[in-house]
Amino acid sequence: MSVENWQDIRDNPLIEVSPFKNSVRTVFEAIAQDENIDEQVRDEIFTDPLIDAISEQEEIRIPEVDILNSNLRFAQSTRRIRNVTWSMRIKKKYNYKCVVPRCDVTGKLFVDAAHIKPDNIPDGNIPHRSHILNGLCLCKHCHILFDKGYFSLTDEHKIIISPKFNDIVDQNLKTVILSSTNIKINNRLDNRFPFVDFVRYHREYCFRSL
Ligand SMILES: [Zn+2]
Repeated sequence: MSVENWQDIRDNPLIEVSPFKNSVRTVFEAIAQDENIDEQVRDEIFTDPLIDAISEQEEIRIPEVDILNSNLRFAQSTRRIRNVTWSMRIKKKYNYKCVVPRCDVTGKLFVDAAHIKPDNIPDGNIPHRSHILNGLCLCKHCHILFDKGYFSLTDEHKIIISPKFNDIVDQNLKTVILSSTNIKINNRLDNRFPFVDFVRYHREYCFRSL
């Protein structure tokens, strides 16, 4: 194998050419069966390369969803891991920085992963709840305003504010969002933007447009 092949394998031990693929799958399956999977994730037992490998597989195959679905058990394991690691992966993609352009909040402890199409909506054709392109990294304050529909995004991922915006009491927060209006959200480390279908859903059903 070439040097590039080995580099690929190191970056993603799940790719088809990897000689370790089956053993990695076995590890995944064992982890996903564990009842304490949520705890393990919080304890960061999942190493970054494993989490990255999963997101990588997922992104390559978008909009297909069941990664490597020829193997049902494996697909179920990865789905479970994807669900519990979703929030970690989203925050990491944005380098732990709030995506609102004029908001300067940054740092693991101060940001959340926010669903664009809400996770209490049942999955449709494109399962959105653990979709890597259905998340924004937002600070706690911006998160609340986004969920309540005080601001949303255009198809070009620019901030738009609701006519109800003046209901917000916190003046600083208001200024931050107002000054971010019509500016594109901060880039992810991989330069990908949220899936437009999810953005449209938020604008149509969550945004206070009246
Ligand atoms: Zn913020």
